[in-house]
Amino acid sequence: MTSPVKKDLDPTAYTRKIPFFNYGELFTRFEDDFMRIFQDVGRRGAFIMQKDMEDFEEALKSFLDVKHVFSCADGTNALVIGLRALGIGPGDEVIVPSHTYIASAASVHLVGATPVLCDIGADNLICPKSAESKITNKTKAIMPVNVNGRTCAMDPLFEVANKHGVMIVEDAAQALGSRYKGQCAGTFGKFGTFSFYPAKVLGCFGDGGAIVTNDDDVAREIMLWRDHGRNEDGAVAGWGTNCRLDNMQAAFLHHKLKHYHEDMARRREIAKMYQDGLGDIAQLRLPPAPDADQDHYDIYQNYELAAQDRDGLQDYLRDAGIGAIQQWAGVMVHQFEALPFSKQNLDLPATEKFSKEELMVPMNMTMSDDDVNYIIAKIREYYKV
Ligand SMILES: *Cc1c(COP(=O)(O)O)cnc(C)c1O
Repeated sequence: MTSPVKKDLDPTAYTRKIPFFNYGELFTRFEDDFMRIFQDVGRRGAFIMQKDMEDFEEALKSFLDVKHVFSCADGTNALVIGLRALGIGPGDEVIVPSHTYIASAASVHLVGATPVLCDIGADNLICPKSAESKITNKTKAIMPVNVNGRTCAMDPLFEVANKHGVMIVEDAAQALGSRYKGQCAGTFGKFGTFSFYPAKVLGCFGDGGAIVTNDDDVAREIMLWRDHGRNEDGAVAGWGTNCRLDNMQAAFLHHKLKHYHEDMARRREIAKMYQDGLGDIAQLRLPPAPDADQDHYDIYQNYELAAQDRDGLQDYLRDAGIGAIQQWAGVMVHQFEALPFSKQNLDLPATEKFSKEELMVPMNMTMSDDDVNYIIAKIREYYKV
């Protein structure tokens, strides 16, 4: 992979800037379409729970092949209303991997239940064995988190859950369209949630999310919790909250969803380039390649690798204009000083190790092949290979 261009003669070595994520491009990519949608929705005065929201939910339903879809205010509150819909609350425990966003654990706390953290496996996703070791008679559910757009291996998780009579609930915030054995992330558990935060694979212009389920009873509870406890007739049938997605955002998201297959394909293409360009470097442990195994179809929300001398590599890339960042600033949930986990002396060796090695290199729709090759070249340069 050595470039024929001498380093000191290569102008791109000094001029290139590859941000980790380009927020402005989210809008400019389809700017004309978005302006048209903005005017259309605005002129109709269709702001809350209108046709655009229903249309988006229908489209998401067929995309995911799931029975019920409720768009939500954001991915965090989608988890909260999902847990409430299952009646999970004070006295209950939910097992969550420590390698996740704080929101996964926070949602459990917010419904009054106790989040119990477990370790990750070789795939950097929830470890079924570790999850099983945390089960008590208070455990109501295990929450696999499909981090980086890879669906957790669901078979071993369901084996554990069924054996102990606990539910599976999925945080699929990062995994829209990712599949395991042909089935979409988010559709395995009692419910699954997604986030449309701008930097997520399907991002809107603010906060947004969704919750999905194949269970009619759970769907009814979710419907009530999302909109002030109101049923189909608008009558209050129980407690609820406001967790609705803005109709305007739904209209934008529906448009983006139509192009989403291109996005998944491009992300997988970039992952393949990283794999081909970096796969031989002994100091790196890469995420699974797009064609690594039959069971998984990954959509690469992030490309999170494990790197020897991670901090050095990150600095080197920064100096080369490359925005490589640590996921969640490199802090796993059990490591937050302000939260009770840090005093629980948890033994989570794989998560602990990964927190010192993990680094996310740019993975987004604005990158050109040249950008990817430049990043690969700089990483190779750093390790002198
Ligand atoms: C982004 C994210 C969330 C929260 O989603 P928001 O829409 O930002 O509330 C939850 N879990 C994971 C794993 C995430 O990446």
